[in-house]
Amino acid sequence: MKTLLEVNNIECHYDGRPAVSDLSLQVNEGDIVCLLGPSGCGKTTVLRAIAGFENVHKGEIKLGDQVLSRAGYTRPPHQRNLGMVFQDYALFPHMNVCQNICFGLRDMSKLAMKTISEDMLNVVGLAGFGERYPHELSGGQQQRVALARALAPNPDVILLDEPFSNLDVELRERLSIDVRNILKGQGITAIVVTHDQNEAFAIGDQIGVMHEGQILQWDTAYNLYHEPENRFVADFIGQGVFLKGTLIAPDTINTEIGHVKGNRAYEWPKGAAVDLLLRPDDIVPDDSGELIGRVINKAFKGAEIMYTLQLSTGSRVLSMFPSHHLHEIGDEVGIRIAADHMVAFQSNEGI
Ligand code: ATP
Repeated sequence: MKTLLEVNNIECHYDGRPAVSDLSLQVNEGDIVCLLGPSGCGKTTVLRAIAGFENVHKGEIKLGDQVLSRAGYTRPPHQRNLGMVFQDYALFPHMNVCQNICFGLRDMSKLAMKTISEDMLNVVGLAGFGERYPHELSGGQQQRVALARALAPNPDVILLDEPFSNLDVELRERLSIDVRNILKGQGITAIVVTHDQNEAFAIGDQIGVMHEGQILQWDTAYNLYHEPENRFVADFIGQGVFLKGTLIAPDTINTEIGHVKGNRAYEWPKGAAVDLLLRPDDIVPDDSGELIGRVINKAFKGAEIMYTLQLSTGSRVLSMFPSHHLHEIGDEVGIRIAADHMVAFQSNEGI
C-alpha cells in the first residue's frame, strides 16, 4: 500500500514548551487511523499541525512527495487539500444544508454544486435534507452534514477532531461505524482524534496511543488490547488488574493464584519480580475450579456481567461472565485463569 501522509519526527511548541516531540506516523492511502490518548497528550496539536494551523519546530509533514510543513515553512491550510470535521460540527447556522455542503466548492457552476451536494447527501444517508437549516437537524444529522461538507471538495485526507463527542454514547458508537463505512466506501484516507477507545476501536484500522506528546504504540485495536507494549498502554486500553508474580520460566509466572503460562517468552532473569496483567476475559467461570472468588461488585452489561472478585489472598480481579452466570454480591464462584495473551512488566518498570 502506498503511503499518502507522512509525519516525520515533528516537534510543536506552545510558549517555548514542547506539546509534541519527536512524533512520527505514516498513513497509507485509504486507511483510517486514530490518535487516541488522555486529555492534554497532544492529539489535537498533531491534527492541527497536519491541517496547517500549527507550525512545526522540527521534523516535517509530507503529503505524497510534497512538503506541507517543516521548521520555518507552513503551507496555509486552504492550500493543503485536506478536509476537517470538528467536534462542534461548525455548520453555518444561516445557510441551509445544501449551502453548507457547497461552501468549500469554488469555481463551479450552480448545477455542478447541486449535483455534488446531492451526491454527498446520498453518501451520508441524508437524501432530501438539502433545504433544511442546521437547527432543524439532530446532532448526529448535523455531524453527517459536516462530514458531507468536508468530503465535497474531494480532499486527499479528512481530519476529524473528536467528531462524536457531542453525541450521546449509543449514537456515538453507531455513527462511528457509519462514518467508517462512508469513508471506506469513498476510499478516503482519514485521521481521527479521540479520547474514547470504543470510538477508536470502531473506526480505526490503526490506532496510535499518545502520552505526553509522543506515540507510545501504533497498532491495531486487537494488539493494543492483547499485546500492549508498555504499562501505559496496558493501563489506558481496556480494563484489568496487575497481580504481583515471579518469572519462573520465560513463559510462566508464579502468582498468588498459582502458575500462569502464556504465549510469550520473557527474557528477564529467572526469579524477576513482575506485574502480570489480568484482563476481565482472562478470568473465566469454572464451577469445578479450585480457585474461588467472592463477588464484591457487579455491573450488568446486557450480554455479559462484569464481576469484581476478591480472591482468598485478598487481591481483586475483574471477570466478564456471560450474563446467565448470575451471582449476587457475597457469592463465592469458581474461576480459572485463561490468559493465553500473557502480558507482564518488570515490577520496577515505569511507563
Ligand atoms: P484534549 O483531549 O483535552 O483536547 P489533546 O490531547 O488534544 O487534549 P492538545 O490540545 O494537543 O491535547 O494539548 C497538548 C498540550 O499543549 C497541553 O498541555 C495543552 O495545555 C497545551 N496547549 C494546547 N493548546 C495550547 C495553546 N494554544 N497555548 C498553550 N498551550 C497549549
